Amino acid sequence: MDRGLESRLARRREQIRRRTIVRRRIMLGCFAGALVAAALALLFLRGSSDDGDKADQAATANAGKQAQSRPADGQNPDGADSQRGGVHPDDSWKPHTGPVPILMYHVIGDPEGDVPYPDLWLGQDDFKAQVDWLAENGYTAVTLVQVQNAWYDGGTLPPKPIVLSFDDGYLGQYLYAMPILEKQGWAGQLNLKAEGSDLSSKEVKKMYRAGWEIASHTITHPDLTTLDPASLEHELVGSKQQLEKDLGIEIVNFCYPAGQYNDEVIAAVKKAGYRGATTVNPGLAEKSMPFELNRIRMDRGDGPDTLAEKLSAAGA
Ligand SMILES: [Zn+2]
Repeated sequence: MDRGLESRLARRREQIRRRTIVRRRIMLGCFAGALVAAALALLFLRGSSDDGDKADQAATANAGKQAQSRPADGQNPDGADSQRGGVHPDDSWKPHTGPVPILMYHVIGDPEGDVPYPDLWLGQDDFKAQVDWLAENGYTAVTLVQVQNAWYDGGTLPPKPIVLSFDDGYLGQYLYAMPILEKQGWAGQLNLKAEGSDLSSKEVKKMYRAGWEIASHTITHPDLTTLDPASLEHELVGSKQQLEKDLGIEIVNFCYPAGQYNDEVIAAVKKAGYRGATTVNPGLAEKSMPFELNRIRMDRGDGPDTLAEKLSAAGA
């Protein structure tokens, strides 16, 4: 082989080696670029999701702004954050001191197989049909706090106010009831056990930010009429403190577990600093009975027709 050919071949090999290196570098660069893009996408998704702490903080800050911009209906005159409702008042809202229906729901969803109390379940389709019927018939869902502000503090309510209350803290209340109500721009009232509910603090905070009122339903859901005074106080004061600490909000109202109460229990509920309490006594909630607020029970299979009958039977 002549030296000229040999040196040309050597140059050629060197060119090929360099091109290969360049190609590898480009490929590596692409791969690294893709990794960076993927990492950025993940960061963006985290940041824009409600699960991100920053999103939580921003939403909380927004909630504060909303409450501040609506002093008449969102806050007590004494300045305490008494929770805000999901619906913003408009010109159609007027002073209102008359009775208000409070609907009582438990599990939203369809039971799989045998469940202990099937009557406590309401299918999400039935629930949606009820909400649609309420909207079509001029009702607006408000929170109990908004009702109390109208009853006692000169606040206003929409022409046909109604409270949708949900007991205990079942997952379906978060998974199904919240989005169905949200589509109407509405929110419910969650009567939450401080311990042992299906819902995490994070889920309850999301409900609060969606406008829901969070009320106490004790710590462990006992029959309050059977407790000694110290245990009674623990369930009433302890649940309020625990929920307020967990959620960072003021708990205003109370709901008697299984509707059980007597004069001693009412006195303890007042002493614990609650503004009102819901029962399972049928009828409309009345301004004159703040610690014995009637509710209208919704049972399994209740569609719009039954809801209409029950509202009418209660005098709504
Ligand atoms: Zn309960």
